[in-house]
Amino acid sequence: MAGLLAARVASQFAAQVTLMERDHLPPDGRFRPGTPQARHVHGLLARGLNILNDLFPGFDADLDAAGIARVEWMWDTMQHVPTGWTPRYHSGIVSRPITRPLLEHLVRTRIRAIPNIRLRDGLEVTGLLLEDGRVHGVTMQSRPRSAGAPESLRADLVIDASGRASKSSEWLAEAGYGAPNETLIDAHMGYGTREYAMETRPPFDALLALPRPDDPRGGVLTVVEDGRWLMTLAGYGEEHHPPTDGDAFDAYARALPLEPLQNALAHARPVGPVYGYHRTANIFRHYERARLPAGFIVTGDAVCAFNPVYGQGMTASAIAAETLHHTLLRHDARDPAFPANFQPALARAVADAWLMATSEDLRYEHAIGGPANLKTRVQHGALDILFQAVPVSPKVSKALLETLHMLRSPLGLFTPDVLAAFGVGMLKRLARPPQANDAVEAGGGDDIATRVEGGL
Ligand SMILES: Cc1cc2nc3c(=O)[nH]c(=O)nc-3n(C[C@H](O)[C@H](O)[C@H](O)COP(=O)(O)OP(=O)(O)OC[C@H]3O[C@@H](n4cnc5c(N)ncnc54)[C@H](O)[C@@H]3O)c2cc1C
Repeated sequence: MAGLLAARVASQFAAQVTLMERDHLPPDGRFRPGTPQARHVHGLLARGLNILNDLFPGFDADLDAAGIARVEWMWDTMQHVPTGWTPRYHSGIVSRPITRPLLEHLVRTRIRAIPNIRLRDGLEVTGLLLEDGRVHGVTMQSRPRSAGAPESLRADLVIDASGRASKSSEWLAEAGYGAPNETLIDAHMGYGTREYAMETRPPFDALLALPRPDDPRGGVLTVVEDGRWLMTLAGYGEEHHPPTDGDAFDAYARALPLEPLQNALAHARPVGPVYGYHRTANIFRHYERARLPAGFIVTGDAVCAFNPVYGQGMTASAIAAETLHHTLLRHDARDPAFPANFQPALARAVADAWLMATSEDLRYEHAIGGPANLKTRVQHGALDILFQAVPVSPKVSKALLETLHMLRSPLGLFTPDVLAAFGVGMLKRLARPPQANDAVEAGGGDDIATRVEGGL
């Protein structure tokens, strides 16, 4: 995804862009092995969707044509946070629930229509052509190897968007540049995903439950294209990883204390195996502090990969494409200082997402990269206090939702209007403490509709 979006931006500045993909790409939105994470629910945050619409005008219409629903958060979805169910209200924040392979296919279809982008698949990049302090291109090998002899391609700018398993740091180290320093924060989150057919449609388009240290299991059940339903479950710490055996996975789901989820699952029939995934550590490769050759930059998960539980990765790749656009507007890609202009700008652009993912992961005592420092503990405390008002205050809930969708920075949560709403919410909460059936009643504010009409 980072590569597709970077290619779109580069095509506005370069005579020719060549995009190399190791996999042989399927003609439609089918799963392929190079992105194993694509089996799992991939939420596209509102900020990411906005950027896709900027990069590909009319992209929303492509989604409509593919039959993808428009889902308004908090009206069409249910969300369980550490302090209870969020209220039901119109947030105006719209998502398009689509599987990752289909989303990628729709983006790639737009890319194929750009005349100066050449997409070459079945071709693995095997190294950098590095000489005299500049990357002049890459070496490549067909897949399978028997399909062709090694080749090379020369370019003014090489962009590595090869994901978490990027080899750039190794290649740079071998060439004497030194690998970039890495920050690793790993709370050992495990994922499991299964598809279901719904005999009765649930009264929501998506239900999301966030894990928390005293119950580190959560997940999402969401509609996607063609009326299919995907359930991704996730648990912090190996003992809480969802099992990959079908019956055990369903039993894990049935043990989650979420009544609306249980009601939905009572009418759900599994239609496929369970897929597991455990490479979920947050990794920040600090290219912004590294000495880099001219003509070479790194983007997407290859720079900063997140624990996916907050659904930030594709949006961070879109933000990276925006950053590339801003950098190319100001600097020539051939300028030796170009990497030193782009990488720090990218590091700043993804800093909020990194802060959100890692500070939440540091709540778990077993997390590698911990323990949380004083600043992070203060953040935890502030968020914990704010969350108290979420079940009763749409305003506070919406501010947090905007932060989750990267429309508002975490620091922007503490504005006078949010704090005032927090005060009102807490007074309401004192007047009416949370009830056991709040999932059904969904809140208690005047401007909150109840879920009863939804048939729960
Ligand atoms: C379990 C899981 C769930 C996730 N859920 C979400 C979510 O809900 N929302 C969200 O926004 N993000 C989610 N993500 C993150 C998201 O998948 C990535 O952040 C996003 O795809 C951007 O990654 P990327 O494009 O940098 O790398 P990738 O998507 O991994 O793509 C890298 C590409 O490079 C190719 N490649 C690799 N090496 C070479 C080579 N040497 N030569 C040629 N090609 C090569 C690969 O085949 C692949 O196509 C999730 C991730 C995981 C692991």
